[in-house]
Amino acid sequence: MGHRITILGATGSIGKSTADVLAQHPGRFEVAALVAGSDVRGVAEMARRLRPSFVALADASRQTALRDALSGSGIANGAGASAVLEAVEREAETIVAAISGVAGLAPTHAALKPGRRIGLANKESLVCAGAAFMRDAAAIGAVILPMDSEHNALAQALASGHPDDVVTMTLTASGGPFRTWDAARIADATPAHTAKHPTYSMGAKINVDSASLMNKGLELIEAHHLFGLGPDQLDVVVHPQSIIHGLVHWRDGAVTAGLANPDMKIPIANCLAIERRLTMDVPRLDLAAIGGFTFEAPDEARFPCLRLARAALAAGGGMPAVLNGANEIAVAAFLEGRATFSDIARVVEETCAAFGGAAGGEPATIEDALALDREARRIAAGLLAPVARSAAARL
Ligand code: NAD
Ligand code: MG
Repeated sequence: MGHRITILGATGSIGKSTADVLAQHPGRFEVAALVAGSDVRGVAEMARRLRPSFVALADASRQTALRDALSGSGIANGAGASAVLEAVEREAETIVAAISGVAGLAPTHAALKPGRRIGLANKESLVCAGAAFMRDAAAIGAVILPMDSEHNALAQALASGHPDDVVTMTLTASGGPFRTWDAARIADATPAHTAKHPTYSMGAKINVDSASLMNKGLELIEAHHLFGLGPDQLDVVVHPQSIIHGLVHWRDGAVTAGLANPDMKIPIANCLAIERRLTMDVPRLDLAAIGGFTFEAPDEARFPCLRLARAALAAGGGMPAVLNGANEIAVAAFLEGRATFSDIARVVEETCAAFGGAAGGEPATIEDALALDREARRIAAGLLAPVARSAAARL
């Protein structure tokens, strides 16, 4: 029997790239279950190809549509929170956790099982509840494999030494589509502008986060939980070519780095490998063709979301969950045309200020983190409402 894999967020960018990796290794893996949000057609099409034993949609209202789309396939299916839970309970050795946003926290946490490997793309799980999530994973005996490209590169670079000998780690950022734009132009950016990421093709939410550099801020918080480094041991450098993804600086002055072409199939394949690496049919890294690497310091004046995320990491406790919840509300409003790009940083900053300090301290459980998330969303939505009214008045 092949190694069994369940994909949470199967119809998204990471989910589809995971299916591409599986397609390169026929017979080696079996798909146990697929989980998606509400995309009936997408998940049904994928299920007919990957033949999982179970398919779940989070959106309970799509139950009949899903049953119809899978009729005659013999694939069991369900919709709603209990179906998602059933999917994560199915036997599987590896879970690809690629739901977008804090919506991924509860299903990913429920997927923690003794000996199970969790390829973690859903960074929001760690941002919102990192301490509780990592503690529970360790207590249960689940293995967390970083799938985010920077963290995957860092984990590989880290393997060359003892973790106690690490001084600092650097995450690289592409700089996003607005890297060379001035502040006024950034303030007027539209969702279409954020969709043009220079090096990756990704989901809509992470595209906006990459443009605002909030993604890099969330990744600093993610790295803090994955690798146990303090805020002052983690930094960011802008590297527009996105070939070096992460660097580990050792106490003897040596630096080890993880390099790869910017293709998420590579970190995904790394997480799906057991003992030996998977052979991947991907273009080989050709440094002479690339010609040069450049680096620059991130500009927190033009990209205040990075500053806000750093502040949330430094404040600790519940503040990263507050930051994330406010960001999700503001990004959704931006994508729906109800907020400007500059509203994102404003709403996040004002929501964090409304909590203050460490926002009540570290969430002790997933439920605590989700309660904090709900409260942050309520406050953030209130901060957007007057903007939406004034935008409507201008029409
Ligand atoms: P996406 O928007 O393309 O896909 C999200 C997936 O989650 C879809 O399958 C959607 O149906 C599903 N989903 C949404 N809400 C759900 C819910 N409530 N319950 C169950 N499923 C739900 O997103 P993506 O770009 O694939 O990113 C997924 C995660 O991976 C994010 O946390 C992101 O930060 C992280 N990540 C993505 C990339 C990338 O290159 N795309 C790189 C690194 C990390
Ligand atoms: Mg990343």
